[in-house]
Amino acid sequence: MIVLDVTCDQGHRFEGWFASSAAFSEQCDQGLVACPTCGSTRVTRLPSAPYVSTTRHSQPEPTTAPPRHDPAVIARQLAASLRAMAAQAEDVGAAFPQEARRIHYGDSERKQVRGQASRREIESLLDEGIGILPVPGDDDLH
Ligand SMILES: [Zn+2]
Repeated sequence: MIVLDVTCDQGHRFEGWFASSAAFSEQCDQGLVACPTCGSTRVTRLPSAPYVSTTRHSQPEPTTAPPRHDPAVIARQLAASLRAMAAQAEDVGAAFPQEARRIHYGDSERKQVRGQASRREIESLLDEGIGILPVPGDDDLH
């Protein structure tokens, strides 16, 4: 149900309940909507008052999104930072999982190492609580 502001040809204003604006139009055409003051069925609908939001926390929509909020840009910047970090680490290649374990358990001096590890080896290292960080390659973001 909707409430519509209605006015008759004599200028009397009243409210009417209708199933929809289409139902109002239909009942008007059939002369079923009559002014309660003068009985006139020549009635028209008044425009509804615009909805006014009273929410205090509503934020105006930004007209243009700042580039730094673009997820693709953030992902690329993050990947670049990770690669820059990894570039400073010692490259131990395929020995990475063993080397990471030796460092973790104190069998080797503490240092940053990088290298390759299979997904299974990575999961196994993480299971042991060894802090490793997968670094996305350039091709991973395309
Ligand atoms: Zn009237």
